[in-house]
Amino acid sequence: MYAERVLSGMRPTGSLHLGHYHGVLKNWVKLQHEYPCLFFVADWHALTTQYDDPRGIERSSRDMVIDWLAAGVDPSQATIFVQSQVPEHAELHLLLSMMTPLGWLERVPTYKDQQEKLSTKDLTTYGFLGYPLLMSADILIYRADKVPVGEDQIPHVEFTRELARRFNHMYGREPGFEEKAKEAVKKLGSKKARLYEDLRKRFQERGDAEAVERAHALLEEVQNLSHADRERLFGYLEGSGKMILVEPGYLLTEESKMPGLDGQKMSKSYGNTITLREDAASVTQKVRRMPTDPARVRRTDAGDPERCPVWQLHQVYSDDACREWVGQGCRSAGIGCLDCKQPVIDGILKEQAPMRERAQLYLDDPTLVRNIIADGNERARKLAQETMRDVREAMGLDYS
Ligand code: SF4
Repeated sequence: MYAERVLSGMRPTGSLHLGHYHGVLKNWVKLQHEYPCLFFVADWHALTTQYDDPRGIERSSRDMVIDWLAAGVDPSQATIFVQSQVPEHAELHLLLSMMTPLGWLERVPTYKDQQEKLSTKDLTTYGFLGYPLLMSADILIYRADKVPVGEDQIPHVEFTRELARRFNHMYGREPGFEEKAKEAVKKLGSKKARLYEDLRKRFQERGDAEAVERAHALLEEVQNLSHADRERLFGYLEGSGKMILVEPGYLLTEESKMPGLDGQKMSKSYGNTITLREDAASVTQKVRRMPTDPARVRRTDAGDPERCPVWQLHQVYSDDACREWVGQGCRSAGIGCLDCKQPVIDGILKEQAPMRERAQLYLDDPTLVRNIIADGNERARKLAQETMRDVREAMGLDYS
């Protein structure tokens, strides 16, 4: 079995906004304390739709990393890297493409959706069709067992799991696998070997899931097994071949409810965002100009918070006492809309203050960001190379 590992990436699409913070980055900051995490800039993914104008991708990538750091992603806890700087992603993508049925790619739900959404772009390209496969390579190359996803991205993880199964089934059957696995069982020592065989039998005859779990725990405990033998025994247990690529699991994350300035979900395409490091004057002006309940034409007109986008921001930034004040004040026309907006402005500025401060450090000294990325690239590359060694060997491409 491989170590627990979280992998998540983002396309560099310009300054991140508070929707990204509440939807993704806050979660990353939490996860980095719980698991080894790898967070990457998906710059090749940006090229799948931006192939005709790649200028700016590199700049956006660096800016995005500053936003991550500003939000509290800590490079001493998490590995921050850039996809294109770990070329093994491309190698695995290519090798997987040899065995991926075309139909699997065409049926990925976002393929047609995106083509329709971005109808002004010609997305009938090989790269765009293959981007789910590139995503799978991103995950599989780190043997990541925890991928944070929203409900709508689960099919991608399922797709990756199917690929890993297909790959292991096709290439995990090394010559003499059965004999090698039996030899590995002997290396467990007679007591543990008996227990292993018993658990294996229970799983294969009765599908007993608990037996698999116990056998996994047993194999993890054993110290003197080589990496190859351990993987053989994991595969032998479930009747498959050697496990080369790990089927990823996912961490279901709640979809961000972060509302934008117009009450719709905060999104760059709706033009309703506040960026992570937006300056105070601009934040104040944007919130002060937000639309309110249309019934409040004059200060003396009573309103209904449920019909007002500002109320949604109070759900994010205000405590119960403040919301109570807003509810009463709005319905009785006891407060004006600008009074009501002030606690939201204060809340956003308070949230942004430490982000701005952290970002300034990196803006003042760009070599810090360069070094963080270079260090992360190196760490990621080592992990990717481990997987590629096994992949090449399994596919008969080991010329060493
Ligand atoms: S008082 Fe507040 S909740 Fe009511 S309409 Fe004005 S801004 Fe919206």
